[in-house]
Formats: sequence, C-alpha cells, structure tokens
Amino acid sequence: MNIYVDFDDCLCETALEFTRIAARLFGRNVPYEEVRFFNLQKSFDLNEEEYQQLMEEGHRDKILLGYEETPNASKVLNELMDAGHEVSIITGRPDMTYEVSRRWLDEHELQRAKLYFLNKYGRDTFYQTGSYNLELEDFYKMHFDYAVEDSPLAFQYLDHFPELKVMVFDRPWNQECELKDNYYRCSDWNYIRKQIRNND
Ligand SMILES: [Mg+2]
Repeated sequence: MNIYVDFDDCLCETALEFTRIAARLFGRNVPYEEVRFFNLQKSFDLNEEEYQQLMEEGHRDKILLGYEETPNASKVLNELMDAGHEVSIITGRPDMTYEVSRRWLDEHELQRAKLYFLNKYGRDTFYQTGSYNLELEDFYKMHFDYAVEDSPLAFQYLDHFPELKVMVFDRPWNQECELKDNYYRCSDWNYIRKQIRNND
C-alpha cells in the first residue's frame, strides 16, 4: 500500500520546538497543550515581524536537525516498509529546507522514505522545479491508501482521494475539527501501525 506521511508534527515535534523558540526570543510562555491554532502567529500572539523572526529561527539548519522525533515514528514506518508498503513524506515546508529535511530523515533511519515538497499552506515561498517538488496536479495523479496528517489546512487536498483513509495525528490544534467518515483520530504511531496492519 502507499502511505502519505506529513513531516512536521507527525514525524517530529515541530510545534513543541516552536514553543521553546517563542519563549526564548519573545518571552511568550505558551504551554504546548495550549497551541490551539495551526497558525503560530495567532497561537503565540506575535506581530508580523516577530512571526517572521520565529519562522526564520525555526527553519535554521541547526534547529531543524534538532527537532525531536515523534515517539516510534521511525520504528513503525520501517516496519511498514519492511512489510512492503511505500512511504512518501509529503511536506509543506519551504523547499529551501530540502537538504536538511532529507538529512533529518536519514539520521532517523528513514533513508528509504521518499521526500516531496508540496505547497500545502499557500505560503509565499519559492518552490522551484526540482524532482522533489510536487505540483498539485502531479500530487493528485499519485495514489495513496493511507495518509498521516495533523493539519486541518491540508485536509482539503486529501479530500481529492475518495478511497483514502486519513489518520489524523491527535494535536491540540486539530481538536475542534469535525472529521469525515474516512478520517480517524490517532493518538500515536502504535495506533497507526495497528490500523494499517489490520488491512494488510
Ligand atoms: Mg504537519
């Protein structure tokens, strides 16, 4: 089976790192559980300039490489790949982070997972032509059986795949979201493994 996996807050604890950066740079002490909005500018109550600074800091190579792995992400994905499933990491990060993102995956034993960049959040960043950059129309031509995603903003793209089962990674900012019948809330990677292996 083909499995779509989002990167931030599915494979690694990105928002948690951003709470630390917001505290360090601006003295905003917002506990992780209170990050209620996917929009971090709103969650941390930052002005435009502060938000830009936050994003720049969070995308520095050293910081990106230090993102903590979400417990069992790599272990479960490797088991799924060992069982013959294809794993594609499809991220909405700016594509200038390709190399460091690839390195993070490799350093976490995910060398076999493919990595693609898709402008999921309509961010004003430059996506150049590259083998790892996906245009939306090419993305829609792909086939996926499962998706692991945390962001309500990305669900609209997943709705183009009628047969897809979407594993919504449980996070503070997707609690209010009403889920359709093919969406399943998942507390952790062991639960995701169980869902996928049951359908082998
Ligand atoms: Mg995400």
